[in-house]
Amino acid sequence: MPPRDCYFGGTFDPVHAGHLAIARAALASGEVARVVFLPALAPPHKGGRSLRPFAERLYLLHLACAADPRLVVSTLEAELPAPSYTARTLELLVSRGAAPPILLLMGADTLLDLPHWYHPERVVALARILAAPRPGVAIETLRAAVAPLLPGDAFDRHVRLLEMAPVACSATEIRRLLAHGLDPGALLPEVVRAALVPKPPLDTG
Ligand code: ATP
Repeated sequence: MPPRDCYFGGTFDPVHAGHLAIARAALASGEVARVVFLPALAPPHKGGRSLRPFAERLYLLHLACAADPRLVVSTLEAELPAPSYTARTLELLVSRGAAPPILLLMGADTLLDLPHWYHPERVVALARILAAPRPGVAIETLRAAVAPLLPGDAFDRHVRLLEMAPVACSATEIRRLLAHGLDPGALLPEVVRAALVPKPPLDTG
């Protein structure tokens, strides 16, 4: 099959170096022509904490993706009722002409939870998953967690594990650093860092 679009859902609060690393690994897999970032308007899994507004998360994503035309940002999930369920997003993509199986990109920690998503059987019926390793999630744990939905060989038919070194980076840690006035440095793409980290005052002395 020729390389095609791969959809990358998430909260992106904010987009960080781990997100860009896994998007690049997807592009390097040979299956993917473009990675389409799909920021969730209202993610179902974030435990009620307050998020950066959608428009701000979107702006930071546009900054992060501007340098590479193969990284694109879509507001598709803003068109759907909240919360942002992947099964609904996939159905909307199909209704607009995308041919199943649709490629989905996600981290192993997200895949771990797939059997508990809204209509996970719709998700696996319409999508194939590219999964990135995430520190702390072993492949055996992942297979066992997803087995109720994808037993045995079904896992290998539906899931491809991306070859890449795990990247120790999370939006939670970045928000913690920023809240303490600390600079997340290389955990953020430089353009995003420039937008989020206040500049020290000019030394005019
Ligand atoms: P938070 O810390 O707020 O939970 P996050 O860093 O996991 O956020 P999300 O926007 O929730 O970021 O993640 C979007 C997608 O990117 C998810 O599929 C998640 O598993 C994946 N992801 C995020 N960071 C990494 C990483 N460092 N390695 C692999 N996958 C990642």
